[in-house]
Amino acid sequence: MKYYSIAIDGPAASGKSTAGKGVSKRLNFVYLDTGSMYRAFALHMMNLNYPCDDSALATIALKSFKLDMKEDESIFLNGTNITKRIRELDVSKNVSEACKHKDVREEMVKIQQEFARSNNVVMDGRDIATVVLPNADLKIYQVATVDARAQRRYHEMLEKGDKVEYEDIVKDIERRDYIDSTRENSPLTKASDAIVLDTSNLTIEEEIDKIIELFVKKTGYKLENK
Ligand code: C5P
Repeated sequence: MKYYSIAIDGPAASGKSTAGKGVSKRLNFVYLDTGSMYRAFALHMMNLNYPCDDSALATIALKSFKLDMKEDESIFLNGTNITKRIRELDVSKNVSEACKHKDVREEMVKIQQEFARSNNVVMDGRDIATVVLPNADLKIYQVATVDARAQRRYHEMLEKGDKVEYEDIVKDIERRDYIDSTRENSPLTKASDAIVLDTSNLTIEEEIDKIIELFVKKTGYKLENK
């Protein structure tokens, strides 16, 4: 049986997860936010008081890392619900260091590929089209200006009641983009066959429509409710 896959990569806060969730809902595919897996691992390192940039300690931490991702999108780390916790700024600040280790990436990629073997999936991250699903049916590389991204993230966090400074969000985005795109292991980069989607001036609905249109065009997939 053929399973479909859509890969959405791009820099921090470019709206990948909102788009990914929307697309998966409309197509009735499973959605996997791979950033949340790396965020959970960063939190695990922080809980252990391990410096996130220590490769040897990251390998040790993997042994006690039990992640449970539920269908309702809640995430549990060793039995504790961390869904909200991993969105906080201190985790954001640590995640790019915690996720750059080879052993950590190999472990996560294994889980992600396993997911795609038995589901139609929409997966978002940094290395989905290049490493995790190099044969994805559709590859999107989503971009937006730093200002557009920071504005979105800032308002999202304010709505959740988080106290954040706009400037801190800009700094976090720029710092993560830099580390993510210059790291040695599977850096953020556009796959040669990915389609660039600039979402700076698109509403979320327009973005979802565009991705679905591209997917249908590329695969001939028949939408159920059309
Ligand atoms: O997508 P999100 O911004 O939540 O991802 C958090 C961090 O996880 C990224 O900044 C990046 O360091 C890391 N990440 C990654 N590879 C992925 C997904 C996320 O390295 N596939």
